[in-house]
Amino acid sequence: MGALTIAGIHKSFGPFEALRGIQLNIEQGKFTCLLGPSGCGKTTLLRIIAGLEQPDRGTVHLGSRDITFLPPAKRSFGIVFQSYALFPNLTAADNIAYGLKGKMPRRQIKEKVEDMLRLVGLESVDGRYPAQLSGGQQQRVALARAIALSPEVLLLDEPLSALDAKVRVKLREQLCLLQEQLGITTIMVTHDQEEALTMADQVIVMNEGRIEQAGTPQELYDRPRTPFVADFIGAINFLPSELGSAHVAAIRPEHIAARGSDDLLPEEDGRLLPAKILHAEFRGSYYRVSLQPVHPAGQQSPVLVDVSASHAQKLDLRRDAVLHLQLPASRTLHY
Ligand code: ATP
Repeated sequence: MGALTIAGIHKSFGPFEALRGIQLNIEQGKFTCLLGPSGCGKTTLLRIIAGLEQPDRGTVHLGSRDITFLPPAKRSFGIVFQSYALFPNLTAADNIAYGLKGKMPRRQIKEKVEDMLRLVGLESVDGRYPAQLSGGQQQRVALARAIALSPEVLLLDEPLSALDAKVRVKLREQLCLLQEQLGITTIMVTHDQEEALTMADQVIVMNEGRIEQAGTPQELYDRPRTPFVADFIGAINFLPSELGSAHVAAIRPEHIAARGSDDLLPEEDGRLLPAKILHAEFRGSYYRVSLQPVHPAGQQSPVLVDVSASHAQKLDLRRDAVLHLQLPASRTLHY
């Protein structure tokens, strides 16, 4: 047992460098998400951790043990893929029992399978075959099958992405609870930033075979180190920076305050950014308003501003109405 330490991992496929020097520490018992756009190398990194792929350079340690070239079967890691990969000719219970055969007495297997079915809430469908289960249920069987072996590390490759939105959100919660309850070190690959932010203790943002930033969801959201991370996690506006030392300023839509023309204090006139409404989108508790600055001064693209539903009642949010935008310096990031 112990933390996973990934050091200096390089991996090429022919001339293509899929991973370019990955350095990473994954704490024991924590939930880590590998997040990034398609092709950034997330799955390749997960497969190297699983032992399904070997790196060209670099090492993987579990605690103090070098496991870089240890075959997958010799690591006690559980793996769950996007496709549930259940045996179609075995019931839910037998799918879970499959990996336990020969590892413990039959009676103990039966108990273990019952425990697992209870854990993932599938007691009532234990005798069904995969084809008779919904996608969410199949994925829970796959999860139970992986967890039944009491793995030291649980590896999940986009386990929720084939499910519809409602089931996905529900399974997200269940998976988080389960992980917390069992305390298994878990690494999940996802390209869904919301999934990563809501589930992970630690998020690793990857881009083109490198780690852009690693941190808690809040750290990545509040203090993205690069424009890539700022843009990939949540919505953000990029504006020309007024600082000589930076190229661009970045600010999130919810940090911009919007005032109507008749609500302007005299000392604010001229210091706020007047902008014309292009579009206002209702999102329940707030409106996301897209505006074009009246005097662009280098700012060509629209600015996004979130206006709370209660504040929106005091504003004219129709197309072409002008709002005055206040961009607090304390909330502005510079790159
Ligand atoms: P996705 O979210 O689309 O699965 P990913 O971030 O998981 O993307 P990887 O699957 O790790 O990306 O692939 C990284 C890059 O390496 C991609 O450009 C992919 O085409 C390439 N690649 C991966 N496996 C192989 C392989 N066996 N042979 C050749 N190229 C590969």
